[in-house]
Amino acid sequence: MTCFCFKKGCGVFLNWLQLICYLTFLILLLYRIKILPAVSYLETERRIPKEKVVVKKRVPKEKVLKNIVIVIKEGSKPEVYTEEHEKMLGDHEEAWELMVDGYDDEKNRMYDEYAGKSCHQCRQKTIGHRTKCCKCTSVQGQLCGDCLFTRYGENVLEANANPFWVCPVCRDICNCNRCRRVKGWEPTGDLYKKTLYLGYKSVAHYLIHTRGPHGKQEDRDNETAGSPTDKEGEQLDEKDGDNMGEDEIKFEVGT
Ligand SMILES: [Zn+2]
Ligand SMILES: [Zn+2]
Ligand SMILES: [Zn+2]
Repeated sequence: MTCFCFKKGCGVFLNWLQLICYLTFLILLLYRIKILPAVSYLETERRIPKEKVVVKKRVPKEKVLKNIVIVIKEGSKPEVYTEEHEKMLGDHEEAWELMVDGYDDEKNRMYDEYAGKSCHQCRQKTIGHRTKCCKCTSVQGQLCGDCLFTRYGENVLEANANPFWVCPVCRDICNCNRCRRVKGWEPTGDLYKKTLYLGYKSVAHYLIHTRGPHGKQEDRDNETAGSPTDKEGEQLDEKDGDNMGEDEIKFEVGT
């Protein structure tokens, strides 16, 4: 056997064959380190099969707009509005910030049996501003800031600064579950965000502008009558109003 370095007694490599073996082993080792992912022996770090990884694609806004579907169950009587109803719609100068008044830091509503006042729309006895109607001067004229803004497009602070403010019930435009049922109409369910995307200030503006004398048929085309199994309206029996806590809008998005 001849030593690789040709020095007598070196003993590093015994021969060419051994050198080739060492180099091959070294190359294979480097190759493995480079191409293979790090191996984890922890149970919690198991690799997820590629097919199970769901990639959430961003949906372009135009596509979302096209696919907004509003579901209102067909009532026993037709829902129609006149020009008078259109005139009764309110407005706001300053936008009302939702989920602040009457909410704690964790966005939970603050219920108070004694200090709280009920809201005609959402029927929740929480603390926070409430409207006062100069006409009925009763609890039916009490609405919380969030309901007044999402369902009628008005700001509770501006309403309270106006001594002649009249509540939606007295204006005959109330869209709460109870008032709608009295008229033979089904509850609307959560509509605020959908109507906002369609370009309306509030649920009342949407309902009256699509069903009034200047009704926009193209927006009503986005509606479906709803199926008997549709629970949206039923859920709101206990909690009327729009669910402001819902971050995502359940649009039916086409692919
Ligand atoms: Zn309310
Ligand atoms: Zn009133
Ligand atoms: Zn009502």
